[in-house]
Amino acid sequence: METHLADWIRDRADGREADAILRSCVHCGFCNATCPTYQLLGDELDGPRGRIYQIKQMLEGAQTGAATRLHLDRCLTCTNCETTCPSGVRYGRLVEIGRSVLEQRAPRPGGQKFVRALLRGALTQRALFGTGVRIGRALRALLPASLARRLPMLRGSGARPESRHTRKVLLLRGCVQPALIPNIDAASARVLDRLGIDAVVAPDSGCCGAIDLHLDATAAAQARARRNIDAWWPYLEAGVEAIVINASGCAAVTKDYAHLLRDDAAYSDKATRVVALTRDIAEYLPPLLGELAQAYLVADVTARADAPRRVAFHPPCTLQHTQKIRGTVEAALRAFGAELVPVAEAHLCCGSAGTYSILQPELSSRLRERKLQNLQRGKPEMILSSNIGCLAHLEAAAGVPVRHWIEWIDAQLRD
Ligand code: SF4
Ligand code: SF4
Repeated sequence: METHLADWIRDRADGREADAILRSCVHCGFCNATCPTYQLLGDELDGPRGRIYQIKQMLEGAQTGAATRLHLDRCLTCTNCETTCPSGVRYGRLVEIGRSVLEQRAPRPGGQKFVRALLRGALTQRALFGTGVRIGRALRALLPASLARRLPMLRGSGARPESRHTRKVLLLRGCVQPALIPNIDAASARVLDRLGIDAVVAPDSGCCGAIDLHLDATAAAQARARRNIDAWWPYLEAGVEAIVINASGCAAVTKDYAHLLRDDAAYSDKATRVVALTRDIAEYLPPLLGELAQAYLVADVTARADAPRRVAFHPPCTLQHTQKIRGTVEAALRAFGAELVPVAEAHLCCGSAGTYSILQPELSSRLRERKLQNLQRGKPEMILSSNIGCLAHLEAAAGVPVRHWIEWIDAQLRD
């Protein structure tokens, strides 16, 4: 695509990067076929090709404002379009630049800024969020149904294994997951322990920065990345073999730390080392699970009431599109005897997408409805996924239990 960027952006680093991305797009429109918002709304302006064009116009100096913001806000940043694009257009990076430039040229109204700041404050402070969740659960009966449904039921997380192995990995302690579904971290630690690996949590680590990035607060996300690097660094120096992350959204963001801190002389090298050691649990564990699965199947622990066999797996966008990890979880589940039901439109987003379900409730609900119809068509006894946002979002409306896949493996291995 030919471009003529405006003088005020042409020679900036983000301008040069956006220009290269825009020029790689041949405007074929293949990406519209897999874009969730284009599927729902059928409007060119709500598909990737139309959004790319709107960003191009803005960077070329056209008037911009509420209309452009509406269409960029409706984008889930699911990057399904990147998977589909035959020209390798890096849409995710382009929309990040586009949103940032839009905010500089035509800032959001104060009310929207306030809501976003509130969300960032509430969701990223682990202690504050945990207290809110406890109060919400205690008062569940008094909450509006729409809010009560968003709170996953509390379920026991069981004991965490003691530290006893020489092999060690760091486990990210995120922001919302420990309060919403603490069993995910506990199950991860137990399965790692069965493999002879300690899961170590750095006490000062916290939110990866994903929520800030979803809300266009890049400086805040950079500060969180620095804090996590500082918290993890002594453990990396001591020889932990990986940073294992069991929420695919957090893994995707942590793997982007080198890019996020590329201009920070004090942290860019450290960020590169952190990225090199970061593994989504869906890529770290499955290659190690083979022997355990064999032993488990030989032991023939069948038909356990709390570990149903017939399951549907929902691969989050941050797993299949952003990190491009495909098929590993399904293979691990099958190795433990799961029967995976076929799921249509597995490439489509469930509508969770960070804070999207709160800021775009109507589109988000429609996407969830469509996703649940596809997931439940094969009559699974349980839905499995691998990102806290998707899990909580789907559980709020699913007709069967929704769990993280590592919880399912852990349940197989109990006793
Ligand atoms: S982003 Fe890719 S698929 Fe979409 S219009 Fe551009 S070149 Fe075609
Ligand atoms: S990131 Fe997702 S919602 Fe946004 S344009 Fe691409 S496919 Fe559509």
